[in-house]
Amino acid sequence: MKSWASIAIPPLASRFKIPNLNIFDSAQQARSPIAKKDRYRIYVCGITPYDATHLGHANTYIAFDLMNRYLRATGSEVLFVQNITDIDEPLLERANRDGVDWRELAASQIELFRSDMVALRILPPAHYIGAVEAIPLVIDAITLLEKSKTVYKVDDDYYFRVRSDSELGKRSHMTQSQMMEIFSQRGGDPQRVGKEDPLDALLWLAKRPDEPGWESKYGVGRPGWHIECCAIALGYLEIDPSQDTSIDIQGGGSDLIFPHHEMSASQARAMNGKRFAANYVHAGMIGLDGEKMSKSKGNLKFVSQKLKDGVDPMEIRIALMSHHYRQDHMWESTELNSAQKFLDDLRIALSRMEVAPTDGVIEEIIAALSDDIDTPRALKALQGWITKTIDGATGGKPGELSRAIDALLGIAI
Ligand code: ZN
Repeated sequence: MKSWASIAIPPLASRFKIPNLNIFDSAQQARSPIAKKDRYRIYVCGITPYDATHLGHANTYIAFDLMNRYLRATGSEVLFVQNITDIDEPLLERANRDGVDWRELAASQIELFRSDMVALRILPPAHYIGAVEAIPLVIDAITLLEKSKTVYKVDDDYYFRVRSDSELGKRSHMTQSQMMEIFSQRGGDPQRVGKEDPLDALLWLAKRPDEPGWESKYGVGRPGWHIECCAIALGYLEIDPSQDTSIDIQGGGSDLIFPHHEMSASQARAMNGKRFAANYVHAGMIGLDGEKMSKSKGNLKFVSQKLKDGVDPMEIRIALMSHHYRQDHMWESTELNSAQKFLDDLRIALSRMEVAPTDGVIEEIIAALSDDIDTPRALKALQGWITKTIDGATGGKPGELSRAIDALLGIAI
């Protein structure tokens, strides 16, 4: 699938030293440094295209964009892959509810998502892959799983034996009863008669009446969600056979910790024998009026609507970055006013001929980002520099700071 327009990253002056990125790993439940490598492999789960792009999505993709930018600033290459679940139960349900063709709904939402990502200055993935186009990869993945004796049939559907992975539950730190409860809330089918284990994950769903299906050696049907992601990740991230872990970062919103990332990792491990990801990184949830922002609550705030209302996309970026990416928080519309003032002040300060010294603030932004992408701290450092500039301090290089803000924080001045 077509990705979106590339975004140029201005270079940082070589005198700025970029330390290793420290990131909170939800599997290890600890902050740990990502070892320096020539090439990083990142997989971030994409949306199901029926409610794009709400501010919760924006928060997640900005967080991983900042990690992508930071790792590139260290001089390394980043291979970044993202999927789009362009066939799944929620998409079909929404299309039925609204009386539209699911393909048209998906196509329109994918286009909206792309334009929102461009506006928010999210670096495009090297490969942006839809579930439908990934079906041949999914079939190959199920074939590999069959070889590892982890596949069985219930009626005409195929399931993965999750207990084949001794690590199950260790990445999400959930007890059996917690997993059971959340599994059914997030698309699982623990009650299905004929499953060997209630948590076993659907690999291939045989075509149901009035639903789409694709021909395969497993019958006409469509892929399960978890196998979609691990098949795309292993298929496009150019896994290095010399390494014992497939990828460096598996990312997404914290609502994907279980079952999605747990199941994807178990399946990937059964496919190639390697630990799936070195780091599992998750962004927090954005709420509204005391509740999580979600389709079921009907309390979504959309990036595209804000842009139509004339909001500068950089204000949305700054408003979301004023909270730490992992922190769940309630969206307040006043945050856009604060972000607008910050952006105006920053642009005015950077347009001056004489500005406060800039090396220190660039070093502080780098230090803040290296510390688990601490954007509130980075913005606070910039605020301090704005104040000093307004107070008449001199000696800085506004062009250099402007380029650093663009490269590291993704804010276009
Ligand atoms: Zn995924």
